[in-house]
Amino acid sequence: MKPKVFLTRELPPECMRLLTESTELSYNHEDRVLTKQEIISGVQNMDGLICLLTDTIDDEILAAGSKLQVVSNFAVGFNNIDVNAATRRQIPVTNTPGVLTNSTADMAWALMMDAARRVTEGDRLVRSGQWSGWGPLQLLGPDVSGSTLGLIGLGRIGKAVAKRARGFEMQVRYWNRTRLSESEEAELGVQYFPMEQVLAESDFISLHVALNDETHHLNSSRELSQLKSTACLINTARGPVIHEAALVKALKNGIIGSAGLDVYEEEPAVDKELLRLDNVVLAPHLGSATIGTRTKMGNMAIENCLAACSGNKPPNLINPGAYV
Ligand code: NAP
Repeated sequence: MKPKVFLTRELPPECMRLLTESTELSYNHEDRVLTKQEIISGVQNMDGLICLLTDTIDDEILAAGSKLQVVSNFAVGFNNIDVNAATRRQIPVTNTPGVLTNSTADMAWALMMDAARRVTEGDRLVRSGQWSGWGPLQLLGPDVSGSTLGLIGLGRIGKAVAKRARGFEMQVRYWNRTRLSESEEAELGVQYFPMEQVLAESDFISLHVALNDETHHLNSSRELSQLKSTACLINTARGPVIHEAALVKALKNGIIGSAGLDVYEEEPAVDKELLRLDNVVLAPHLGSATIGTRTKMGNMAIENCLAACSGNKPPNLINPGAYV
């Protein structure tokens, strides 16, 4: 018997083929986020739920899915799921680590290069028809090559960003909750410092921590005031890791130089003032948005779902307590 699976939004074609072959699939045919009520209706009598970072999976939804054997998230971050509630209900929760590391690290670099070298700002100038030609003082930005990169969070994506910094001959400093071993630091070419020092002494700062209660507003006005006035702050982690209103003030008042953001506190809403600032590059949460990565994420989410539905521990289990 094929497991009954509810999918909250269509995945890449290869994943849809796999799901259709291997499950009794119900899914959202519209290209939009489902309402909570629609997810509650969708999970009734289902063995598996495959959901996205835009779906908030709370205890009420888990209660409605009384037969659920798995909540399989199509993302590495899982702040959208009440994991404690799932564990209490003995429902395994899974994510898709690793397959999106490189594409997200690439995105952090795209934002860093764009914010520093003012590419999007220049694009706006050219399109406006107001560009009067090359000028020696036009749209100058800070040097990327040879500068200091500070990484807050050195998990998979933070490390991939550090590796890329070598090509730019940057000094890489990091703060992470868990310090790496000396040999791993040497291999990656990174130096550990307290967070305040990483913030105060870096030209570029890129955030790579997971979002949870401890990292919520990790970068607020106090931390932002420690940055160099020329510093460029990049966030491809999760929006609420930065206090967005404090960031707007810092960008407006010259407390920091520039920023590159892929994620926002209240997605898809973006602070109106951010939209008016030239010294920030705004991407619409594109970190993992490559064809190859999204297909791998989908296949991984399906593999997790099928494993749990057939009574096996899924390979990317977040809450081992669900099996206790
Ligand atoms: P990872 O390897 O699990 O790394 C997570 C990092 O967060 C580690 O450095 C970890 O520190 C740190 N962390 C976790 N809880 C913490 C806490 N309470 N206090 C301080 N640090 C804490 O994950 P990853 O694959 O690198 O992904 C990182 C995040 O990037 C994801 O959680 C996701 O939110 C985000 N992301 C965004 C996109 C996008 O589209 N923009 C795409 C992919 C991922 P320890 O080493 O001490 O555990």
